[in-house]
Amino acid sequence: MREHFDVVIVGGGPAGLAAGLYAARMDLRTVLVDRGPLGGQLLNTELIEDYPGIDSILGHDLAVKMGDHARKFGLASSSRSPRSTSTATSEWSGWSRATSCGRRP
Ligand SMILES: Cc1cc2nc3c(=O)[nH]c(=O)nc-3n(C[C@H](O)[C@H](O)[C@H](O)COP(=O)(O)OP(=O)(O)OC[C@H]3O[C@@H](n4cnc5c(N)ncnc54)[C@H](O)[C@@H]3O)c2cc1C
Repeated sequence: MREHFDVVIVGGGPAGLAAGLYAARMDLRTVLVDRGPLGGQLLNTELIEDYPGIDSILGHDLAVKMGDHARKFGLASSSRSPRSTSTATSEWSGWSRATSCGRRP
């Protein structure tokens, strides 16, 4: 089945999760694609220190908090590695691009 999204974000580290949170919060249908679990480098880090607003927190715990926060606004996620953003493919082996009126650029 083909799904349509307004925004596709590649990379589920802190940057992608922040972008996903705010896009979903704007009521844009948003999917975040990562080749692994959400969290990025946070998942390779035992203790994160001095992230703005947080003295210290386990990397895994911060990743879970960020994911939960973004999902609260309806962010969808998919664990895949897109082959290429410029190659039109079917289903979720990648994605196809189309304008809002259905034309494929
Ligand atoms: C050992 C270590 C300790 C650290 N300690 C701290 C600290 O104490 N405090 C602090 O503030 N920061 C710390 N950092 C830095 C912090 O982890 C990074 O600044 C932050 O993770 C960067 O976020 P990002 O979203 O830009 O990138 P990343 O976290 O690198 O996330 C990028 C994501 O994109 C995905 N991706 C990339 N290419 C593709 C592709 N083609 N297809 C699909 N997915 C893709 C990757 O799988 C990854 O999940 C530390 C980093 C490390 C490695």
